[in-house]
Formats: sequence, C-alpha cells, structure tokens
Amino acid sequence: MAIQKSSPVFTNYHSHSHYCDGVEPPRAQVEGALQQNVGVFGFSSHGPVDFVNAWSMQAEKLADYLAETRALKSEFSDKIELYIGLEIDYLPGSCGPSTYASALDYTIGSVHYLDKNELGEPWEIDGSTEKFMRGLVEVHGGDIRKVIGLYYDRIREMLTLDPPDILGHLDKIIIHNLHNSLFDESDDWYQKEIDQTLDLLAETDCVLEVNTRGLYKKNLSTYPSMPIVAKALARNIPVMINSDSHAPAEITARLSDTALQLKQLGFKTLRILHNNAWRDVAFDGEGLYL
Ligand SMILES: [Zn+2]
Ligand SMILES: [Zn+2]
Repeated sequence: MAIQKSSPVFTNYHSHSHYCDGVEPPRAQVEGALQQNVGVFGFSSHGPVDFVNAWSMQAEKLADYLAETRALKSEFSDKIELYIGLEIDYLPGSCGPSTYASALDYTIGSVHYLDKNELGEPWEIDGSTEKFMRGLVEVHGGDIRKVIGLYYDRIREMLTLDPPDILGHLDKIIIHNLHNSLFDESDDWYQKEIDQTLDLLAETDCVLEVNTRGLYKKNLSTYPSMPIVAKALARNIPVMINSDSHAPAEITARLSDTALQLKQLGFKTLRILHNNAWRDVAFDGEGLYL
C-alpha cells in the first residue's frame, strides 16, 4: 500500500490589511488565502505606535482588530488554521513585542525607525530613499557605516531585551543600497554586523523570516538576502517564509520559488506555528507538509 502523504499547503504569518497600510479587510485576506492553497495564515497588521505615521494601526482600532480576527478564527476553523499577530516596532522606551504579546498568538518584531531624523521626528529607515538619505546626511554626516551599525545594534537590542517570536525582514535597510550604491555588502565590517546579529539570534527562540516582498515589489531580493539565509542555516537558526502581503492577491507571492531556493541551500524544514505550537515541518516548492 502506498504511504499516504498529506498534500502540501502554503503558510504565511506576515500579512497586512486595511487595519494598517494594507488593502481589504481581514475576511478578504482569509478568502484570498483559501483560494491560494494556504493551510495556515497569520494576521499581522502594524501595531500602534505612539506618534502619527502613515502605516501603523491607530491605537483605538486595536480592540476591533482583535475581535474581528478572533471571530474569523473560529468561523473558519474547519477550513484554515488562523493565528492573530501583529508586526510590532521595536522603539526603545516606547514599544516592542512585549507591549502587545499577551493579546496575541505570536509577534513579529521589526525595526522600521532609528532614533530621530533631521526634523527631530522618528527616522523611518524603510520608507523612501530620499527621506533615508536626508537623515543619513543631515544627522549622521553621511556615515553609512555608523548608521548600519546603529540599525543592527537596535535589532540586537530587541533580540536581547524584548525578543519577538519572529524576526521581521532582518536586512531591510539595504533597500537603500541598490547596486551597492552606499557600501559593499561583502565588506568585512558589514559581514561582522550580520555575523554578530546571527550569533545572538541563534541563542534565542526567534524564528528568522525570509520575507519575499522585496522580490515581488522591487524585483530585488528576499529580506534577508540568500547569503545571510545561508549563514543562518550554518548556525541552525530556524526560518520561515513570509510574503509580507499588503493585499489578498500577494499572500503567496514568491513563496514557492523561495522555498526551492531554501531547499537548494540545504534547509530540510521550516519552523511554523501549527496546532498551537512551533514545529519544524518538511517542505518543497509545492508548500509545506503539515
Ligand atoms: Zn515591516
Ligand atoms: Zn510587514
């Protein structure tokens, strides 16, 4: 008798809806996920921050977000496994993964802001390159090495003081370094920042996400890039693949070919939240075998 193997499904734990800067309500996300053969799906709007910005959830919407996603979780429980999370900014002294963790199934911790810009406002490091360059030049004298150091320091601080379940888009700051325009990513000093961060990550229980948004939005690379993912494998750091979707149609964008790349690197499993526990699951380009 042939051995029964469960049919593969995709998973995605990094997704945005109209509660933050995504489009469509959570219900449309669930319907999109079902159409795209997703077996486990996580909601992760940008958690509220204590200043005004263009993309975070407003604090007064949080209770509705939690109630609406919880209701969907039970309504669809026989069709898809749903989890409730947030992508939370690490802002020392203001908020971090632990700020919201008790209300959630899981947290994604991301660094989108680095101290203050030239106007004294929170300096957004994954917004427009024009804004990034203004802060770099006017606040830091154009010293990219210093700023990159501050960025990875901040991530290491989060991993030490307030570790999330999932580390969001580790090297996203290189979005401003197209064609190595600001520095060479193979330089020793940069690789040391990466190594130091991965060494620390390996000592935590955090899962490193391989985020595909840079592939389908910018035709760039995953965050982090594959050489960094290979370094994570060498340290036995668990990884998962997420699309960071901002619309239902993006939920499985570039998950399949990224899975194949990870297989080629030598990964045997992905770490996911399934049946309410973190588990290592076999996968291939067709999806994960739950
Ligand atoms: Zn993010
Ligand atoms: Zn995101």
